Amino acid sequence: MFSRIFVEKDSTSYPQFQNIRERFSQVPITEIDAIEDVFGRVKKPYLQKRDNLQLFLGKKKGTLLKEAPDAYGLAGEPHYYFIHAYNCIYECEYCYLQGYFNSPDIVLFLNHQEIGEEIERTWKESLNKDPSKRIWFHAGEFSDSLALSHLSGEIPFYFDLFSKEPRAMLELRTKSANIKGLLEQKPLPNIITSFSLSPEKRIRATDLKTPALSHRVKVIRSLQEAGHPVAIHLDPIIHEDNFIKTYSELFQTLKSELDLPKIEYVSMGVVRFTSQVFHQVKKNYPQSELLAAEFSSSFDGKVRYPRPFRLWILGKIKDLAFQVGLTKEQVYLCME
Ligand code: SF4
Repeated sequence: MFSRIFVEKDSTSYPQFQNIRERFSQVPITEIDAIEDVFGRVKKPYLQKRDNLQLFLGKKKGTLLKEAPDAYGLAGEPHYYFIHAYNCIYECEYCYLQGYFNSPDIVLFLNHQEIGEEIERTWKESLNKDPSKRIWFHAGEFSDSLALSHLSGEIPFYFDLFSKEPRAMLELRTKSANIKGLLEQKPLPNIITSFSLSPEKRIRATDLKTPALSHRVKVIRSLQEAGHPVAIHLDPIIHEDNFIKTYSELFQTLKSELDLPKIEYVSMGVVRFTSQVFHQVKKNYPQSELLAAEFSSSFDGKVRYPRPFRLWILGKIKDLAFQVGLTKEQVYLCME
């Protein structure tokens, strides 16, 4: 998977590094002083991730936790991201990481102890102010939360941390089917694994290299059967002529395979880009079906479908959700 591994000299004692070194014993390793001395120093085209991906291991310095934008998650409660990785092994054509860094190489930060201390300090401050309000933490603003968790090995640490405070919620958001580490943990009601799903045809056309819908649904069921809370993101919703049919089939699959009343929440969001990412999509995927629709700049500077069109799409998808028995309390709209 990786052509070279770079590791910061003072991170070589982490057990995760030892584990990665054993797994990738054929891959050359270079010790460096700091990730930022090498990562992104020379611009590397985004699509080089297809055939030349490097892995960087080290410590996250500076900002460990960031407040999430309004309307990111369930309304009325504070939301934060923590940053434990940069970039992703998958290749979704709409990915917000295109052009974000100078490089698509993967960075895994190993200093979870420090990230955890910052999380705990933040939840204590928030709960002191208002003990009745839960506080949310989302793993990975710049990566998939679980896809490489077998390498970064942080799952037991976060289960231990969040077992201390039930009002602190952790969301692990993923398109992967990498749940082995989760199944080894005793479920906690405040750790929710959320899966981004789209109709199978859309996954194959746009979410390149991600697991098939059937595979993701299967692992959601395994987590439910093991007692882990799960949630679903129908995001990004991409319009196509028969989207009502394809989403109807998706909801029928969810109804037949999952325990829908036990789904914590279902978020829905229509495809959107920053103008910079939109430019990258046009450059990287000029033939993409994504670009077939009309887009315009919207209230927050992002590029979206026109508002009446977005609301019409969301209305149709919500109707389909209610038809299979999901409730108003379970469904929320993301970033609208
Ligand atoms: S899974 Fe998420 S982070 Fe990874 S390529 Fe797709 S959109 Fe980007």
